[in-house]
Amino acid sequence: MSDSASDVVIAGAGPYGLSTAAHLQNLGLDVRTIGEPMRFWEANMPEGMFLKSEPFASNLGSPQPGMRFTDLHPGWRIGQPIPLETFVEYGRWFAAEAVPQRPGDRDAQVVNVERARPGGYAVTLSTGETIAARAVVVAVGVGPFAHIPDELAGMPSWLVSHSSAHRDLTLFAGKDVAVIGAGQSALETAVLLADAGAHPHVIARRPELDWNTVPQERRPLRDQLLGGPRSGLGTGYRTWLWAERPGLVRYLPEATRRRIVRETLPPAGSWWLRDRLDERVRVSTGRRVAKAVEQEDGLALTTVDRAGRRLVTGFEHVLTATGYVPDVARLGLLAPDLRGRIATRLGAPVLSRDFEASTPGLYFAGLAAASTFGPVMRFVHGADFAATRIAHHIIRRTPRQQPPRARLADVLEPDTTRQ
Ligand SMILES: Cc1cc2nc3c(=O)[nH]c(=O)nc-3n(C[C@H](O)[C@H](O)[C@H](O)COP(=O)(O)OP(=O)(O)OC[C@H]3O[C@@H](n4cnc5c(N)ncnc54)[C@H](O)[C@@H]3O)c2cc1C
Repeated sequence: MSDSASDVVIAGAGPYGLSTAAHLQNLGLDVRTIGEPMRFWEANMPEGMFLKSEPFASNLGSPQPGMRFTDLHPGWRIGQPIPLETFVEYGRWFAAEAVPQRPGDRDAQVVNVERARPGGYAVTLSTGETIAARAVVVAVGVGPFAHIPDELAGMPSWLVSHSSAHRDLTLFAGKDVAVIGAGQSALETAVLLADAGAHPHVIARRPELDWNTVPQERRPLRDQLLGGPRSGLGTGYRTWLWAERPGLVRYLPEATRRRIVRETLPPAGSWWLRDRLDERVRVSTGRRVAKAVEQEDGLALTTVDRAGRRLVTGFEHVLTATGYVPDVARLGLLAPDLRGRIATRLGAPVLSRDFEASTPGLYFAGLAAASTFGPVMRFVHGADFAATRIAHHIIRRTPRQQPPRARLADVLEPDTTRQ
């Protein structure tokens, strides 16, 4: 195991990490991309899932032509849902074509990032190797930010788990499972649970479920004028702005940005899921979870309706499909000293126009950037924009020649602390 140096280390090889790596490689930088390509999609999304995003909004970002989803699958129509495994295959094909990884980096994780001299970072991998890097891109996706509501937090994982903890839902066959949430993830998980032989019961705060409409491949001009253009987040003039011009979103007041992140694409099921949500799935809307109590054979879940009426129901498991909330404090890969130096607002990093945090040379891509650049950062569609900005900023600050190989002891800050 030898210590090494690199221009950039990217933590995570999902759509944002891979896109950023492709742009950086193209600029001639020495890049280490750490993690198995598309790992989260393969391991943490349920088998049998389909993407909600349309094919043109499911492209990874590359400066080279021919690397879009629609280049690999030219016949894929708007309104034709993409199966999870097709998208994972696409991401892995992209990685094989555009993102060479060193042997070992694919199976590694970034376990620690700390500040180093002069103005760089020391990045430690799960293999034990430590890399001296000029810049680090944190592209760890949504996984570290899985949110379980307070009322259910602290329950043992065999009784309460987040939807992202499961790929194989057959382990719930024959069981009564509450699914908390009203978004695509909750509704699709409930359908897939029913397919797997479980007895799902969706519990949602919303007064009723919402469903997206069938997208039209060709829209009459009148519809286009009245309804606005199509974009990677849906149709509408404002939606187009949020989807296609995230750089402008950054200039909106913070409260507005947060509101559009919340309100753009609110919880709703895909049109193609609607028919599959049949009598096998019970649905209770207008109810919030108040408490859960462990019992001998499962748990008693108390929910409250809008009139304050309480109902206690027994379940064998509760699956929370309650989303992801970015919070730098939860990023254990960043050393505590570094985490403490990153300026945040309500947990999310404050980012420059180039996705750089207040600690120079440290960049955040994906969900962590949504409170700065808006809702498109929650989706694959934002990856090319983020990757382009990050890569061009790094190249502007990085001399093209390889950095001198430094001994780790020479680059570590004397005052850094590790947990
Ligand atoms: C169920 C579900 C369905 C979704 N459907 C869609 C959809 O249809 N369309 C869409 O656009 N978006 C969808 N999303 C949102 C989607 O997660 C994001 O668009 C996308 O994954 C963002 O890419 P990313 O690279 O930021 O994150 P990810 O794809 O999560 O990739 C991050 C990677 O980093 C790895 N990682 C984490 N920590 C480390 C570490 N310390 N070291 C190394 N690697 C690490 C993870 O294993 C992961 O593979 C969905 C999300 C969920 C949960």
